[in-house]
Amino acid sequence: MLCALATASPPAKPNPSHAAAADHHARLRAAAARSDLPGELAAFAAMSSSSSAPAGARPVLRTFTALLKLCAARADLATGRAVHAQLATRGLASESLAATALANMYAKCRRPADARRVFDRMPTRDRVAWNALVAGYARNGLAQAAMEMVVRMQVEDGERPDSVTLVSVLPACADARALDACREVHAFALRGGFDVLVNVSTAILDAYCKCGAIEVARAVFDWMPHKNSVSWNAMINGYADNGNSAEALSLFKRMLGEGVDVTDVSVLAALQACGELGYLDEARRVHELLVRIGLKSNVSVMNALITMYSKCKRTDLAAQVFNELGNKTRISWNAMILGFTQNGCSEDAVRLFSRMQLENVKPDSFTLVSVIPAVADISDPLQARWIHGYSIRQHLDQDVYVLTALIDMYAKCGRVTIARSLFNSARERHVITWNAMIHGYGSHGFGKVAVELFEEMKGTGRLPNETTFLSVLTACSHGGLVDEGRNFFASMKEDYGLEPGMEHYGTMVDLLGRAGKLDEAWSFIQNMPTEPGISVYGAMLGACKLHKNVELAEKSARRIFELGPEEGVYHVLLANIYANASMWKGVARVRTAMEKKGLQKTPGWSIIQLKNEVHTFYSGSTNHQQAKEIYARLAKLIEEIKAVGYLPDTDSIHDVEDDVKAQLLHTHSEKLAIAYGLIRTAPGTTIQIKKNLRVCNDCHNATKLISLVTGREIIMRDIQRFHHFKHGKCSCGDYW
Ligand code: ZN
Ligand code: ZN
Repeated sequence: MLCALATASPPAKPNPSHAAAADHHARLRAAAARSDLPGELAAFAAMSSSSSAPAGARPVLRTFTALLKLCAARADLATGRAVHAQLATRGLASESLAATALANMYAKCRRPADARRVFDRMPTRDRVAWNALVAGYARNGLAQAAMEMVVRMQVEDGERPDSVTLVSVLPACADARALDACREVHAFALRGGFDVLVNVSTAILDAYCKCGAIEVARAVFDWMPHKNSVSWNAMINGYADNGNSAEALSLFKRMLGEGVDVTDVSVLAALQACGELGYLDEARRVHELLVRIGLKSNVSVMNALITMYSKCKRTDLAAQVFNELGNKTRISWNAMILGFTQNGCSEDAVRLFSRMQLENVKPDSFTLVSVIPAVADISDPLQARWIHGYSIRQHLDQDVYVLTALIDMYAKCGRVTIARSLFNSARERHVITWNAMIHGYGSHGFGKVAVELFEEMKGTGRLPNETTFLSVLTACSHGGLVDEGRNFFASMKEDYGLEPGMEHYGTMVDLLGRAGKLDEAWSFIQNMPTEPGISVYGAMLGACKLHKNVELAEKSARRIFELGPEEGVYHVLLANIYANASMWKGVARVRTAMEKKGLQKTPGWSIIQLKNEVHTFYSGSTNHQQAKEIYARLAKLIEEIKAVGYLPDTDSIHDVEDDVKAQLLHTHSEKLAIAYGLIRTAPGTTIQIKKNLRVCNDCHNATKLISLVTGREIIMRDIQRFHHFKHGKCSCGDYW
């Protein structure tokens, strides 16, 4: 197309049909501007029914082309076809003005093939006709055909493209991501002097943006002597869509500064950018602005506002916008539910989903994919079953994204077997479906099964991605499969060309460290091609605690503290390592450092859900209604497990007398939650609890024995993985 554009442009000559076309357009514009369509249609009806044709073809033609224009604007194919039939009866269908209007009508009614048929029957075709076809193809997503037409108009009819042609074909080049074609159109526009037209230059920069050539687009933008708000919008959107939120936002501010009219398009791009960057102050200013310019009634803008506040972690502000929104659409509900879920407000997400049901808003697969992870986070088996049944009733359970969310949810609720049967029943499996199942097995300590499934996945020809490798490496780490883990890590880059990220390195250190290969883990860190992050040294520190290695712990901790962690968890870990080695000066030093930096120890909590109520326990908390009963049951429980050999593991607490230590251990949140579960549930019921930290040695040991003396199965989900306690043993094999 580009060669054709470059070479085949004949010199511009006066076009006899041009004046007529302009006149025709003026009349069409006038017709379109009039809103008396019923009147026009009445005239049409009268003409169709009258046996005698009105005198003179021209007035009839004028009425018909005006009608066609209206049909095109309303995408009214039926009336358009009726007009076509009338024109054909009168032998006017191939007349240039009529045929062009017909082609345009068919194109706008999404019938490009019909448009082409009309066009092909025209005895002579002018530029207006060619342009109608180019625009028709481009509008219907037939980019290649549109570009071909631009070549043919020059080769076959010697018609030189004009600004209308360029503005029509550029979106087609953009849709086809045809960067070379964009360049050729751009060059043609420069040679023909069309680039001074603001709509042509804007279409050029927009096409460059969509082809990812953002720098070139910016050069076009900066060069433009006149820009309108469409030009600014195109450039800002270009940055936002190409992931350069900072530049999108700075350009938006410049647009405001230069007094250009801001529209919904630029506001949407600015909101997206604020959300990506998490810039709350800027976000609030855009919010004020959009209220000022009257965009509050624009529901797309308001939905974007909800998403943006959620991304800035301000679900309170998002909820305020949502609640004040008068004309909520399903997208508004979805945005708010997802916002809650992604910010860990799972209860709110589920509550809002219920409200959506009450208000009879029909959910779609996106709604379910947003709410199911919230149900997974709450880990209530009853709710999990309910949402699964609901997905089936809505015929959305075989949607691959919904199905994957369900698999992940069942695994997180401790129901790996159900997750697997869903996985087996899937009609379609995406890579994320495999990842969810492999991760599910890994988090429950079924390392071998996870590895088998990973091999099966490779056997089906499905390509693993970075997340698949992270899941399988985690599974190897939790299952103690050191050799397999090493091989998978190497294979990631060698066989699949995937670059390991910080999380993969962290998991490898965890894998080696847990297995007691501390020196190998340390040299692995030293040989990393990128600067190791906190998570990598954190994994090393955890391994040092497990294997009581003070020297490497100090080295790791030094690096972590240099990197400035935001939580006190690593300081606590190091203090515990010192305490285990009876290095009390070290303990004191770490504590002082922690106080100086204002870092807090994360308080431990455990939750248990019983009959739709969530009970949260903090270590040592006594504010539960049934606190007395709980402590009494716990005291009895401790006596019972002591009888089968329980010895409080007081290593992890220091500075206090042994009996006080035991007392402190006995009030750990998970023990309180278990005691409460035993009081509230019938004998034989499985007890399920969730904890925000890693379970400590003592609680792990105690829980094993509790499962033995009470005959209960206890499922504990800690921050790392699941522990299934049964008959005095844990599924993790004491390896966590
Ligand atoms: Zn504990
Ligand atoms: Zn365990």
